[in-house]
Amino acid sequence: MTMLSKAAALLQGSDRPLLIAHPRPDGDTVGSTLALRLALSQLGKHPIVACVHPLPDNLAYLPGAEAFVAEVPETADIDLVVAIDMSDLSRTGGICRDSWRDRIPLLVIDHHETNDQFGDVNLVRPSAAATALMMIDVIEALGVMVAGEIATHLLLGLLTDTRGLRTETTTPAVLRTVSDLIEAGGDYLGVMQRTLDSVPYRKMRGWGIALDRLQLDEDGGVVPIAWTTFPVAEKEALGISDHDDLDLGNLLSRVGEAKAIATFIEMRDGTVKVSMRARPGYNVAQIAYDLGGGGHRQASGCTIDGPLDVAVDRVLAKLRTSVDPVGERPTDRR
Ligand code: 5GP
Ligand code: MN
Repeated sequence: MTMLSKAAALLQGSDRPLLIAHPRPDGDTVGSTLALRLALSQLGKHPIVACVHPLPDNLAYLPGAEAFVAEVPETADIDLVVAIDMSDLSRTGGICRDSWRDRIPLLVIDHHETNDQFGDVNLVRPSAAATALMMIDVIEALGVMVAGEIATHLLLGLLTDTRGLRTETTTPAVLRTVSDLIEAGGDYLGVMQRTLDSVPYRKMRGWGIALDRLQLDEDGGVVPIAWTTFPVAEKEALGISDHDDLDLGNLLSRVGEAKAIATFIEMRDGTVKVSMRARPGYNVAQIAYDLGGGGHRQASGCTIDGPLDVAVDRVLAKLRTSVDPVGERPTDRR
């Protein structure tokens, strides 16, 4: 039995599955979750969708966005947990309870190379450009047609995780899938206009602050690194909450001289949320993994102890020495 058929069997056998998207939700986790929700609803099932953080403005317009709950009681009437687009159990944001593990099966659908196989069934494909791409196979295995709103949700996942089809993972097959999804009724222009090309005013002001603090470190290490910090005081001034990372990683990833970038957002609890991005041929997955986080070669993240300047020194030191040409899949956490 393949992992895909095991995953499909778990979903077929469930009537009240809980689908979990990761904290600080992005287009892939939300799109994949909402697409699976629609497919399961078409089969007469009663899925619940959850995410510990609210959806950002550029995702909150999606049909089905209002269905997300931030909390699920321990005694909830569920018979399957599905963790979507996340590499370890902590990425459920505490929604998945320890007490469920003995009695409720856990299905993982994910494409992070740092995935630690935390489910009972793990459908994990690190080569996939997005979890949305894997979700197409899952939905088809359930006998549901990928069309209409389902296609829009999956298009959203694919377009956001490839940053508008510009990552190393954007293969000819990915481009063909995008065109298939559009032909199946996926709203390409809507996703582009309302998600990828739409930045709320306050977020754009935040970018101003982050760009004002931008540094380019060209001499100290093996590779040029661009980085910036975002202190709590600046968040307070602009009214930015802790679960909003302003998508700074993707903003800085475009600094032309840089082979790697890092953003450091100070949290109100004193920890620091770090986002890293690397040009093709460089790898930031291992560094994030070593720091307790995870991700992909070209995009990874973690949350580490403050204060801000200590966190910066710690991550930059690692980036300078080990953002070397692409290495192997991370195996052990140090
Ligand atoms: P971002 O920098 O945009 O938050 O995340 C980049 C990538 O790294 C995403 O694929 C995201 O899922 C992953 N990632 C970010 N933060 C963490 C973390 O704390 N733990 C893990 N396991 N993955 C993370
Ligand atoms: Mn993803």
